[in-house]
Amino acid sequence: MLPQIQELLVLQDRDRRLIHLAEELAKIPKDEARAKDKFAGDTAAVQKAKDAVMANEVEMKKIQLDTGTRKTTIQRLKHQQFETRKNDEFTALGHEVIRYEGEIDTLETKELELMEKGDGFRGVLAKAEAGFARTKQLVEEDLQSLVEKKKKLLADQAEVKADRAKLAEKAPEAVMPLYERLIKNKNGLAVVPVHAGQCGGCHMKLVASTIVKVQGAHDIAQCENCGRILYSEE
Ligand SMILES: [Zn+2]
Repeated sequence: MLPQIQELLVLQDRDRRLIHLAEELAKIPKDEARAKDKFAGDTAAVQKAKDAVMANEVEMKKIQLDTGTRKTTIQRLKHQQFETRKNDEFTALGHEVIRYEGEIDTLETKELELMEKGDGFRGVLAKAEAGFARTKQLVEEDLQSLVEKKKKLLADQAEVKADRAKLAEKAPEAVMPLYERLIKNKNGLAVVPVHAGQCGGCHMKLVASTIVKVQGAHDIAQCENCGRILYSEE
């Protein structure tokens, strides 16, 4: 094998690692977004439970208000009863009092029902909040591990980049422009082996003269189809 090829293969290894590291780094923001997405369901559940508790409390307040109004009315009626000297008016006011007391009974029963319902709603809310807290912890762990993963990838990237720069300095100058162009345009694969007369990059059958050139190992040979630099593994 041409010594140039050996040097290029080492360089290609670093370039491929850099491509892989860049791909891994590009995935991080998506992974972060996916981790945060886990919140959506739990946030909605907590909000729904909070709304139910709130609506129930509003309804209870209304009933308490209605009860209060009736109690005030009863006091007023009783006062009127006390003041009147007419028997029939006294009786009529008494009927009114009884009617309002009946209404208060109904309202108080309703209030008790709502209190029970409220306990149920608060239970649901507590569960939803616990679920949210669990998810929050998991998401924070996920995000933390992504931060660490990113740090590690960046460190690896810096190390490989430095290594690559050193290798590139020593690499055969004449063939570097061709190599750089191929690694960029040929999917990170510039130097490929010949397998059974085929290019290891595009898998097209090579012409006999190219194979002879590769086996001769005196000069750089390229695939006549894709242009990749070829070498023989034998
Ligand atoms: Zn090819």
